[in-house]
Amino acid sequence: MDNVIYLDNNATTAVAPEVREAMLPFLGPLYGNPSSIHTFGGQVKAHLDEARERVADLLGCHPTEIIFASCGTESDNTAITSALDCHPERHHIISTRVEHPAVKNLCQALAQGRPGRPLYRVTEIPVDAEGLLDVAAFEDALDDNTAVVSCMWANNETGVLFPVETVGALCRDRGVLFHTDAIQAAGKIPMNVSDLPIDMLSLSGHKLHAPKGIGALYVQRGTRFSPHIIGGHQEGNRRGGTESVPLIVALGKAAQLARQNIDKEGTQVAALRDRLEKGLLEKAPDARVNGNRLLRLPNTTNISFEYVEGEAILLMLDQHGVCASSGSACTTGSLEPSHVLRAMGVPFTAAHGSIRFSLSVYNTDEEIDKVLEVLPPIIRRLREISPFGHETKPAAGKAR
Ligand code: PLP
Repeated sequence: MDNVIYLDNNATTAVAPEVREAMLPFLGPLYGNPSSIHTFGGQVKAHLDEARERVADLLGCHPTEIIFASCGTESDNTAITSALDCHPERHHIISTRVEHPAVKNLCQALAQGRPGRPLYRVTEIPVDAEGLLDVAAFEDALDDNTAVVSCMWANNETGVLFPVETVGALCRDRGVLFHTDAIQAAGKIPMNVSDLPIDMLSLSGHKLHAPKGIGALYVQRGTRFSPHIIGGHQEGNRRGGTESVPLIVALGKAAQLARQNIDKEGTQVAALRDRLEKGLLEKAPDARVNGNRLLRLPNTTNISFEYVEGEAILLMLDQHGVCASSGSACTTGSLEPSHVLRAMGVPFTAAHGSIRFSLSVYNTDEEIDKVLEVLPPIIRRLREISPFGHETKPAAGKAR
């Protein structure tokens, strides 16, 4: 698969060679348990501490505020259930219509009833046609019964950024715990969480060039917390289970690299993304960008090619070795248009033909040239056989 052009980095990323290198000793000679008293285990503990410092450095927080977890989903689940456990008298959760299933499906399960838990009321805040959060609706929804607000920092499908500072400040005013799923944002935009009214934040290793199966939860000092996994004293009694040292070391190294590369995300990666987007909009009629084009991650563009099926585009791109995604990887397998595009009111004919391209620092100009060469003819060919009709119409004036 040497010739693959990988533009699906919001689904997962390649493990960086430096990250692979950093974790290898912990799959070999350095196999000690960091909790052991002996020196052999102790030397492993030093690497665990270093990884924690590196993750803290990426987020701009203190290392003791980082709890390692098995994935981003665990971090999201822990944050929300912890907030509910810390406010047992409150039964209202606020989130948004466009959250990842790691938050959305948990909230829905809590609304339907989970064993040993009360029934929760869940309010999902809408977004506008550009995917931007309706802050007024959010403010209206906050009440004295609200235990937690969970609002993503960046959307995985469109890259659109949410005003976490504003949302967090409104939560602080009302004494409500605020969690943000920053799994797509971490490592792509600069962050200094200590300066922000954020109580808890999730990140995931495999979105920033570490392997799958490792995540972290930031819990701001002083925030009430109740563990999700109860066991040993690991992670300061906040997450039981012997630490997966190789994966934690890998996440630490990936966080260090991400911090070093953060400027490149805003310049080099954004420039490639913009060139891809501009070229496709010029060369493929009836193409439109889903989501606000300014307030979004530097690596993501979600483009609808009207009157064609996203899956068909992906299959034909695949024949050229180009990897992209229609909707999010978690929703493929279903022919339902993505819940994110539906929440934005993207018309049916556009939602079905939507493709997400998500880049990384490893993409090159040549790869973008290649996509610009192969994709427009694919769209033309598919339009000719489209059941929605192949008449191309002027894009101006259409609902986005
Ligand atoms: N939240 C967002 C925004 C995501 O994009 C993802 C993964 O796609 C997750 C949560 C889940 O993370 P993980 O795969 O590490 O469980």
